[in-house]
Amino acid sequence: MQTTLFKRFVRCSVPLAVSGKFLFSSVAESSTQSPSRKFDLLVIGGGSGGLACAKRSAGYGANVGIVEYKPFGGTCVNVGCVPKKIMYTTSHVNETLHDAKHYGFEVKDVKFDWSKIKQSRDVYIGRLNRIYENGLDNAKVTRISGKAAFKNDKTVTVRTKDGKEETYSADHIVVAVGGSPRKLGVPGEEHVIDSDGFFALTEQPRRVAVLGAGYIAVELAGVFNGLGTETSLYVRGPRALREFDETISCHLHKSMIESGMHVHTEHTVKEVIKGADGTFSLHFTNGQVHGPFDKVLSAIGRVPATDCLDLDNAQVPTTRSGHIVVDDFQNTKASGVYALGDACGRVELTPMAVAAGRRLADRLFNNMPTAKADYNLVPTVVFSHPTIGTIGLTEKQAREEYPTDQLKVYNSSFVNLHYGPWYEGKPGPKPISKVKMICAGDDEKVVGLHMIGMGADEVLQGFGVAMKMGATKADFDSVVAIHPTAAEEIVTLPPWGMSGKK
Ligand code: FAD
Ligand code: NDP
Repeated sequence: MQTTLFKRFVRCSVPLAVSGKFLFSSVAESSTQSPSRKFDLLVIGGGSGGLACAKRSAGYGANVGIVEYKPFGGTCVNVGCVPKKIMYTTSHVNETLHDAKHYGFEVKDVKFDWSKIKQSRDVYIGRLNRIYENGLDNAKVTRISGKAAFKNDKTVTVRTKDGKEETYSADHIVVAVGGSPRKLGVPGEEHVIDSDGFFALTEQPRRVAVLGAGYIAVELAGVFNGLGTETSLYVRGPRALREFDETISCHLHKSMIESGMHVHTEHTVKEVIKGADGTFSLHFTNGQVHGPFDKVLSAIGRVPATDCLDLDNAQVPTTRSGHIVVDDFQNTKASGVYALGDACGRVELTPMAVAAGRRLADRLFNNMPTAKADYNLVPTVVFSHPTIGTIGLTEKQAREEYPTDQLKVYNSSFVNLHYGPWYEGKPGPKPISKVKMICAGDDEKVVGLHMIGMGADEVLQGFGVAMKMGATKADFDSVVAIHPTAAEEIVTLPPWGMSGKK
């Protein structure tokens, strides 16, 4: 019991920012009460969803407060999408430098300084934090610094970093607290870093093991590998991204191996051991031992940051995983309390949290009673090497949903023109791109679209619009291709122009 209480205290205490890093302060001893304040809307969490909801609500004239205990911007800005994309681009630049020889360039003495890009990245993110603060100030949203918990369904207490306890009440309270990396839960897990630890690295490790099979594992393993770190990816199942369309996940698997990454499937770690020389070895349930590694990174999913919110005080139920239960309108079971973004665990992507936050503001403060975010056909990109873009049903899901005679699957494999002049224009082991389109019904409505290869990250956004409008294969084919691009493959999938024709 004592251990449980101690753990809860540590996890729920308020971190102090010291030179851009966070230290946990002991806030329990000296709590002083300060006057309460009333808002129309109080948002807990200044990340993607919370910021969007707060600013849009204030734009409608609502009196809004937002509580945050870290720099504004949330996971995406501080330890997610933004620094990740910068590191993805860093490794992409390295690949380009090495590929330049195929285009006639002689690039000599390429040197890379990890600490330099980290420093520039941190400065840039610091700027974004200030932009978010200014944006809130300009929108007249009150910024409240500290960690919030519910007193009841209309009142929240905020523990500030200097140990004060403040009380705020509001007609509407939005919970947008996001999540944090899931712990590995094996002996030696204290030696393992997670995605937050990845962004804290000040120098490039020489040998890295990445544990996990999702977005973060393949993205960060790809960054390490692309920058020349000897990278081993350990997946407990048959391949990474196994919930993605099989064509895509199998091609990623092959591509990662071809790029020099050591990909180990059916490997479940049971212990991480630190050696006398400071390196790490991994012991697996199949009896194998791998190492030594300079760093071990685990990316096995995320858990919602709901355990310190005292949600019981507001009668807000959660699932067993701690995600907040909401309906399609982001309503929790408690009247006037809403939740959105990663805390609900439905689609854990920044634009989804933003859309949910904005639509909720529209409903609460702009007289739009039916406004709600649409969770269907959400496009998503994995910044793996190569990138993946995907919208809608996988082939497996489509086969579960539609009878075989109502399904048609179009496939294409091609070499991006970028690789055309490689090997002096002759054939060689050039990277392959793949597209799969899944169509359903007599009219061949496009219900799934998947792409892997150069440009996939930038290609699918517009096709998402077409799919939301119910486009068919014939509609796709009716658009004249833009040549020469990777995107044209999607409007020329063979047999082109024959949809519905016998
Ligand atoms: P968050 O952005 O996590 O914000 C929650 C905020 O609430 C945090 O700032 C937190 O400090 C604060 N908070 C928590 N508890 C309290 C409390 N009690 N009191 C006060 N404040 C509190 N998504 C994409 O779309 N594209 C990507 O490329 C992408 N890359 C990612 C890469 C990584 C490594 C990670 C980890 C995530 C990535 N994501 C990406 C996912 C994306 O970051 C999240 O889906 C998004 O940030 C969720 O927004 P949110 O508002 O729900 O939560
Ligand atoms: P994911 O949910 O994407 O993947 C985690 C995977 O790790 C699981 O699917 C599982 O795969 C595997 N896993 C789970 N537990 C264990 C375990 N104990 N040991 C080994 N493997 C395990 O989680 P991430 O942490 O990668 O990312 C969280 C979310 O953040 C993503 O789902 C995504 O929504 C978002 N994100 C989005 C990005 C983007 O838009 N580009 C980038 C990064 C994150 P299996 O069951 O096959 O073993």
